[in-house]
Amino acid sequence: MMSIVAVVGRPNVGKSTFFNRLIQRREAIVDAVSGVTRDRHYGKSDWNGKEFSLIDTGGYVKGSDDIFEAEIDKQVELAIDEADAIIFMVDVESGVTGMDQEVAKLLRRSKKPIFLAINKVDAASRVNDALEFYSLGFENQYNLSSINGSGTGELLDDLVKAL
Ligand code: GDP
Ligand code: MG
Repeated sequence: MMSIVAVVGRPNVGKSTFFNRLIQRREAIVDAVSGVTRDRHYGKSDWNGKEFSLIDTGGYVKGSDDIFEAEIDKQVELAIDEADAIIFMVDVESGVTGMDQEVAKLLRRSKKPIFLAINKVDAASRVNDALEFYSLGFENQYNLSSINGSGTGELLDDLVKAL
């Protein structure tokens, strides 16, 4: 079986931008599980000769803020269940948010390897701002830019070692 890697995090941090950069082709879109739209995009990728299936979560737009948060929690729970490794994406522009802390709390209970991807570190001037994310408590922390590709290689090197 091919390893599964899920990308989770709150909206607008850049999950889909990262996903689109990595995948060679889209595999499927799965939705409408137990009355809630679970919009999950699957793609195939490989790095250093190791193939894996990548899941982009949270491409949905739905109802109230409460439902929205609950849906993110569901995506995280689902990722914890089915993924072999999880990329938890956050945004250096906004800094640590309450929703990031919520997701972090769920992920810390998982035994799966978690890679904290601090996205939108487009320039060296943003590296200092990334330090505050250590407060989320993850050992594997990577600064990257999904738009220009910087830092993604370091993350992927370590990710595929864990698969
Ligand atoms: P998602 O909701 O987490 O899937 O986020 P998207 O991939 O849709 O991106 C949300 C916004 O952030 C878009 O306007 C992207 O162009 C922007 N974005 C994504 N990655 C980067 C990045 O590395 N740097 C910057 N500056 N913007 C980014
Ligand atoms: Mg998205």
